[in-house]
Amino acid sequence: MSGIFYRQTGAYAREPMAERTLIIIKPDGVQRHMMGEIISRFERKGFKLAAAKFLQVSEATARRHYAVHEGKPFFEGVVKYLASSPVLAMVWEADGVIDMARKMMGATFGYNAEPGTIRGDFSCSRGYNLIHGSDSPESAAYEIPLYFADEELVNYGLVDADWLYGKND
Ligand code: UDP
Ligand code: MG
Repeated sequence: MSGIFYRQTGAYAREPMAERTLIIIKPDGVQRHMMGEIISRFERKGFKLAAAKFLQVSEATARRHYAVHEGKPFFEGVVKYLASSPVLAMVWEADGVIDMARKMMGATFGYNAEPGTIRGDFSCSRGYNLIHGSDSPESAAYEIPLYFADEELVNYGLVDADWLYGKND
């Protein structure tokens, strides 16, 4: 398909290198039928989807993913959890997306997370908290290639980008 639907237009489309974050709907999110709910929150916020993959994470990848937590008491548990059942890995894009997504996710433990956040609304567990999101640009740069090859990240413009990302000043 070509033509107007994929034409790069608008201010945002001229800045294709907006920040990216790795979001994973974790095994409990998939098993609890929460994928649509979670995706719809990011979609309605105005983030742009750059990649998505439904997969079974291997224990080796889970170890690499959580390498920063190696040696902590919960490390083996969180590795097993991430590799316990399929997940939906996604890359979402927007200026400031890393911090915005973290706010939308809520605090790490479901029982601490504020109502209105994903974890606050749908989790009361400690470790089973539905979603992963990169916590810094450095984490995103490390995590995204664990799940996606460069060519799997799709560059395109949103036709309503000027409305989504409009500025008055
Ligand atoms: N986790 C856990 N027990 C803990 C701390 C963390 O089971 O005491 C799990 C939980 O699933 C969390 C993940 O390990 O999401 C990674 O921990 P981190 O502190 O990075 O939290 P996040 O960035 O996911 O909010
Ligand atoms: Mg983390």
